[in-house]
Amino acid sequence: MAIRVSIVTPASPDPAVSAAAAVLERQIRQRCAAMVSIVATAPGTATAIEAAQAVIRLELRAGIGVEGFAIEDGQADGRPCLVVAGNDRLGLLYGVGKLLRDATWSEEAFAPGAWRGKSVPVGTVRGIYLASHMMNFYEAAPPEALHRYIEEMALWGTNAVILHCPLGTEDPAAPSMHKNLEKYRGMMRLARSMGLRTGFLLEPNVGREDIPPEIRYSPYPDDLKKRGDAGMKVCPSKPAGRQWLLDAWTKLLANFDDLPPDFIGLFPYDAGGCGCAECWPWGSRGFLSISRAFAEIARQKFPACRFVLSAWMFDMPPCGEWEGLAREFANGAAPIDFIMADDDEDFPHHPLEKGVPGGLPLLNFPEITMWGMWPWGGYGANPLPARFQRLWGQVRGKVAGGFPYSEGIWDDINKAIVAQFYWDPNRPAAETLAEYARYEYGPESVDDVLAAVAILERTQVGKWQAQLQGQGPSPDAFDHLQRAAGRMTPRARAGWRWRILFLRSQLDRLRLNSEHRFLGEHWPTPACVPLLKELIEIYHGQGAANAVRPPLLARLAQADGKLPAPESAARR
Ligand SMILES: [Zn+2]
Repeated sequence: MAIRVSIVTPASPDPAVSAAAAVLERQIRQRCAAMVSIVATAPGTATAIEAAQAVIRLELRAGIGVEGFAIEDGQADGRPCLVVAGNDRLGLLYGVGKLLRDATWSEEAFAPGAWRGKSVPVGTVRGIYLASHMMNFYEAAPPEALHRYIEEMALWGTNAVILHCPLGTEDPAAPSMHKNLEKYRGMMRLARSMGLRTGFLLEPNVGREDIPPEIRYSPYPDDLKKRGDAGMKVCPSKPAGRQWLLDAWTKLLANFDDLPPDFIGLFPYDAGGCGCAECWPWGSRGFLSISRAFAEIARQKFPACRFVLSAWMFDMPPCGEWEGLAREFANGAAPIDFIMADDDEDFPHHPLEKGVPGGLPLLNFPEITMWGMWPWGGYGANPLPARFQRLWGQVRGKVAGGFPYSEGIWDDINKAIVAQFYWDPNRPAAETLAEYARYEYGPESVDDVLAAVAILERTQVGKWQAQLQGQGPSPDAFDHLQRAAGRMTPRARAGWRWRILFLRSQLDRLRLNSEHRFLGEHWPTPACVPLLKELIEIYHGQGAANAVRPPLLARLAQADGKLPAPESAARR
């Protein structure tokens, strides 16, 4: 039988308490059939509370610690209840997240768990970078789905959401990009309304195809094929080029006067870079110079904004970028506030061994979304707990947080793992994974999900065709997940977080244990098609670029006229 739950707030609740109560109510309703009511404790409300089997009181309480929370036993109108206290607005939200994950869920009811105590985050910048492009989930999903997703990420401890905001977004004459302006503004408004910090990541010398030839960039070395070379770029060492860029960015920033960004990340490569004699080495010369000029302009508009200089792919291969940056920052790093480093594989050695240039706080940029799977998310969920545990070991205690890089929702488990590293640097990935599995799939499924994820991680290798050759059939994650599915509630089994994991195991089984395992002309086999189509539905990926939608469906879908021709785009 469905139970009654009362969420108790003060008689005239702070908007932060009302907002957290609404999140809690929505999540409980979504996860079980319990009847939930929000009760402001005022005369005459005791009856409503008395009828409830579970009573949860929400309150703000200064002194717990910035963005921290406490969960404890207490009283509401004279009867026992559970109290979730937040130090501040975000702390209360994170407390609600912990309460939800600690509870035991059935189809009809939920029972709050036994966890009591206080928890305060260690990392101060617990961000996420949503690469909103290529018609991936972040660009294509309807606003309600996006809003719900941001809310659910925040429940794991995230406190900042940044988007990709390329030049052209501001320009009505570039409709394919301009269409995103209101979406970006909507996402920023929503995130801010939850108390999250917001901002952008951008490549400061990216131009557009119609820029005059005289201000264009020069190619740069990319011997390791890691820096990328997407899009038209402007040389910022040419005075006219520099002016063109600063004018263009000023126009773009004017669209956010009422939504001042808290963070702007300046990104060197992939869509940016210039290899001319004045700009190279890019990271410590051209890029640094235009980033500082950009940050100075932006800071005049948005005085509280903090600027994150990314050192992504610096010295890959070595060209003096880290040394140059250290030299440039020896006499002060202003107006840059953070250095954000990562190289998709091991963390770069330079800042760990020689110190961070300018003594700035360091952030990481873990690649949680692409590694070992092409197309990204193309076969479903990509949980990589062992990988991220290993990489976290390289930076634990050395970073103030970071912005994991995400192209879609298939990396949801990785997002939770990294968010919890930032919250508590000593919390093992395996523990977060177990909490995730218990919460999303139910306590009876945890052991099988953990066993399946270990198999899925082992079989997720970069070049499937080559590296799996000769290994024989893979151990079957599907068997574990099928057993877990039998122990889950129908709601959990229908949830997209389950479907993307289960579909991955089904596709792996078909892919790795059949004669079609080498992705030849016969892939996808007919048995795979409905599974891949379901993934596309979940990702809202009907119009997505090949990189962010299940593989080879373009060919099938073009045949029945459902998908546009594939496009290519920058990774970031
Ligand atoms: Zn140049």
